[in-house]
Amino acid sequence: MLIIGPPGSGKGTQAERISERLGVVPISTGDIFRTNVKEKTPLGVEAMKYMDAGDFVPDSVTNKMVRDRLNEADAEDGFLLDGYPRTTAQVHYLDDILAAGDQKLDVVLQLTADDDELVTRMLGRAKITGRNDDNEAVIRHRLDLYHEQTEAVVAKYAERGVLTQVDGTGKIDEVTVRVMHSIKETQA
Ligand code: AMP
Repeated sequence: MLIIGPPGSGKGTQAERISERLGVVPISTGDIFRTNVKEKTPLGVEAMKYMDAGDFVPDSVTNKMVRDRLNEADAEDGFLLDGYPRTTAQVHYLDDILAAGDQKLDVVLQLTADDDELVTRMLGRAKITGRNDDNEAVIRHRLDLYHEQTEAVVAKYAERGVLTQVDGTGKIDEVTVRVMHSIKETQA
């Protein structure tokens, strides 16, 4: 399963809840990058330049990292990927990984929210998390990238008939109810 949504849409929070309820391993590319940045690994040093500017980390780095992670034993029986793919090139790369592992996507869930609400949320989050990429200029840039590149990813999965869209506004618990309901509907 994939969870896709603009920055600040609550993907990470909902991904944790879905994975607990469905018993699938959550894999967040943003979290993997942040862990590497914190530990100052070569991957983290490379990724940080892009993350702080709100840019995508290049595919040459991101794709391999995702492939290695999906090939670990705990992802064999299913996973919930959060934050990948974000570009159509990454969609094709993921197609190849899945085909090689004889796996397929059951659900692609998109969380939706409007830009102004997202900016407000992320500025609020910045005070709590201190994330370097949660300042207004960088937030706007991340939203632009989402519209320019990631909406094309969503359109691809819609064409394939695996997309389900959920309104990501409102209380966290309410969104979770909607999310779980839409996953069940898709599986029915
Ligand atoms: P997130 O926590 O999903 O908002 O991701 C934080 C940052 O990590 C993004 O702004 C990018 O710099 C980087 N990142 C995460 N996932 C990807 C991806 N699939 N492709 C490129 N960069 C990514």
